[in-house]
Amino acid sequence: MSRRLLGLDVGGTGIKAALLDGEGRVLRRARWATAELGIARESILPALESRLLGMLAREAITVGDLGGLGLACPGLVDADTGRLHDAPNLRHWEGLDIGPWLADRFRCPVALDNDVNALAYGEWRLGAGRGTRDMVCLALGTGVGGGLILDGKIYRGWRGLGAELGHLSIDRHGRRCACGNRGCLEAYAGAWALSATARRALARRAPGHRALARLLAGQPPTPAALSRAAAGGSALARELWAEAGCALGVALAGLVNIFAPERIVIAGGLSRAGRLLMEPACQEARRRLMNPDVQRLDLRRRALGDDGAAIGAALQAGEERP
Ligand SMILES: [Zn+2]
Repeated sequence: MSRRLLGLDVGGTGIKAALLDGEGRVLRRARWATAELGIARESILPALESRLLGMLAREAITVGDLGGLGLACPGLVDADTGRLHDAPNLRHWEGLDIGPWLADRFRCPVALDNDVNALAYGEWRLGAGRGTRDMVCLALGTGVGGGLILDGKIYRGWRGLGAELGHLSIDRHGRRCACGNRGCLEAYAGAWALSATARRALARRAPGHRALARLLAGQPPTPAALSRAAAGGSALARELWAEAGCALGVALAGLVNIFAPERIVIAGGLSRAGRLLMEPACQEARRRLMNPDVQRLDLRRRALGDDGAAIGAALQAGEERP
């Protein structure tokens, strides 16, 4: 039997797990609420271990069959030491030597990486970026994360601090970003930003606000609700998506000028909006490229769904040498 790989995507609210066979096929998926593992530092890792062992048992797999265990975590992750340093959504986990601990308990190579790096790696190996050598990944979630595959390798930069593509500033006088800078891509093309823009448009009674409010029917203007409203005929909802798309397009043109990627993969919850977001993004990017006839703008949506980071983490662990 080829060795199995286990990948985890640990987020502030939930943990996604994917068990892969030797060919990268997903054998089993699992989801847990992060809060289930408690907040006491000494209980988090044993609680995680028991859930992972339960998952293996349900596939009749023993610890000895595991060829690697990968973890994708938000924030600043030290891939070399296996320690999580700075994770604003996961404060209880900060400073845990999670990599060495899991390597000891599961007796297999463990890989730890930033969640968007893991996602980029998963999409590159088995998803929308398969077969490319240079790939940029943008994860449009609550915020915006980035991942770079350059010359067939993941690029992390000095101390793993690179590829923060969501904080590429696209307007120096622009909106304030959570990072303290102004005009970051994240302040326009993340879920939080999109919903905040929609709330402001409704509050100032922008043209079309009545139709949008009617379609929202009292629900908050989440990206999913704004997609439905756009499909239901709201011009304002379409405009809000177009605005986010244009901001994305400005960033895409910059990324193509810098990296000349073979492909750009758009992941994260906002990628579900499809053409509502991608068409204005593509148009805006083409307008801004140095030479759109020569430069390549190959934009794809993610292919691995919500499990991309867990799958990528598992595959990264498979690359580690025991
Ligand atoms: Zn920022």
